[in-house]
Amino acid sequence: AKADTNNTNGTLVVGTNAAFPPFEYVGDDGEPDGFDMALIKAVGEKIGMDVQIQDMEFDSLVSSIGSKIDVAIAGMTVTEERQKTVDFSESYYEAVQAVIVPKDSAIANADDLKNLTIGVQLGTTGEFIADEIEGVNVSAYNKAVDAVNDLINGRLDCVIVDKNPAEVFGTQYSDKVNVLPGTDFDFEPEFYAIALPKGNTELANKINTAIQELKADGTYDNLVKEYIEE
Ligand code: GLN
Repeated sequence: AKADTNNTNGTLVVGTNAAFPPFEYVGDDGEPDGFDMALIKAVGEKIGMDVQIQDMEFDSLVSSIGSKIDVAIAGMTVTEERQKTVDFSESYYEAVQAVIVPKDSAIANADDLKNLTIGVQLGTTGEFIADEIEGVNVSAYNKAVDAVNDLINGRLDCVIVDKNPAEVFGTQYSDKVNVLPGTDFDFEPEFYAIALPKGNTELANKINTAIQELKADGTYDNLVKEYIEE
């Protein structure tokens, strides 16, 4: 399917990376599911466009906007670097990075992260944070869960990933890992938003209005309860 950047065909081609629960994951039917998928479908209904999801690597999303996809929703943090290439909708979620450690780990604060081997997801804010820590050896994976598996296999000292997926993985592997909150490491809050083609204010206005309406009419809160706080 081709993205139509003029949106004249009524289809919004949405890129995601369906490996970031609870925001996006592959559902039982093999299709992308999760909070972001439900949110963008609700936005599509509000703006009268069919939503078509394209599952791709997280690291390719920003550069694909305007060609392969119209917009991207992928638990994506607004960053200045990304804003050089794309615009963002208003934020729909506040997050922060977390640190996943083996059960027997002594890691407890920012100083403890120095000189470690740290797993991250390629092209994410977790990677950008890890890259700044003194003396670290950063291993980047296409999927965060692959980093978690290497942590369990003893190849990594810790994994830095957004708190909600960290909690999902922490529950999944609760006998092997602990999840430490970002506040223990002085990580900054991050704001998720939909990445949009640069300069398309018409589409941005429609999507922002839709998000505001979904927040006002209770749909947004229901999706948070259904997907994030369950
Ligand atoms: N919030 C992080 C980022 O934007 C991770 C997103 C993801 O892995 N889907 O870089």
